[in-house]
Amino acid sequence: MGRWHFLYQNPETAGFSGNGLTAKPLVRQDALETPAARLFANLRQDFNDDRVIQAMERTPRELFVPARIRHRAYEDEALPIGGEQTISQPYIVAMMTSALELKGGERVLEVGAGSGYQAAVLSCLAREVVSVERKPALAAGARRILASLGITNVAVFEADNVLGWPSGAPYDAIIVTAAAPRIPQALVGQLREGGRLVIPVGSRAEQHLVQATKHGEQLAIKRMGGCRFVPLVGPDAWSE
Ligand code: SAH
Repeated sequence: MGRWHFLYQNPETAGFSGNGLTAKPLVRQDALETPAARLFANLRQDFNDDRVIQAMERTPRELFVPARIRHRAYEDEALPIGGEQTISQPYIVAMMTSALELKGGERVLEVGAGSGYQAAVLSCLAREVVSVERKPALAAGARRILASLGITNVAVFEADNVLGWPSGAPYDAIIVTAAAPRIPQALVGQLREGGRLVIPVGSRAEQHLVQATKHGEQLAIKRMGGCRFVPLVGPDAWSE
């Protein structure tokens, strides 16, 4: 673990200079004995999307979880980040990020910044990321760590009384990292024509991931795997 800490805590080594894709890969392919290398090798097998896995390799997940569980950062598990919220499982991060089908020039909205990890991954794959978070302490923490990594193309805002961030709309892609009872019309309205919305939809207890592509008044819906997210709370979603 010591080596990972050293590599990741030096933003210059990590190559974060606004857009992480300029960075050199940090995971040595011959280092399969480390939990991180094992995790990324598994994700490469499960998802045929090297750009996404490279973005995850360049994002030091151990810095986005509380210090006392840092040793678990490269387990393929959701982990608690305080305020009864969780950082998503890497497998789910890979699936959702891949489903956004980003090419590099997009403006992306994330609903549910949490730790800021997913936003940091997106910062490597899109031009600009707007991420909203309803818990002020989490928003502040996410902002702090993103700044410390030198990531300049992510803006974290505290959610107000509308879902999403309409003043930045339309977005090329929207990712919701909390569970919704249905696809929120408010977010479809913030999506540009042809854009993709990736969101867990279902009950409070379990959901499936949905990729919805906007075609005029219609949404083309693709269902992906099952998942469990903390609830999306507020207008167009669950009450507290
Ligand atoms: N993407 C995060 C994990 C998100 S957990 C990461 O990478 O760490 C889900 C987050 O959604 C929680 O932090 C929760 O506070 C937030 N959330 C729930 N409802 C919300 C809403 N209506 N608007 C913005 N954030 C919301």
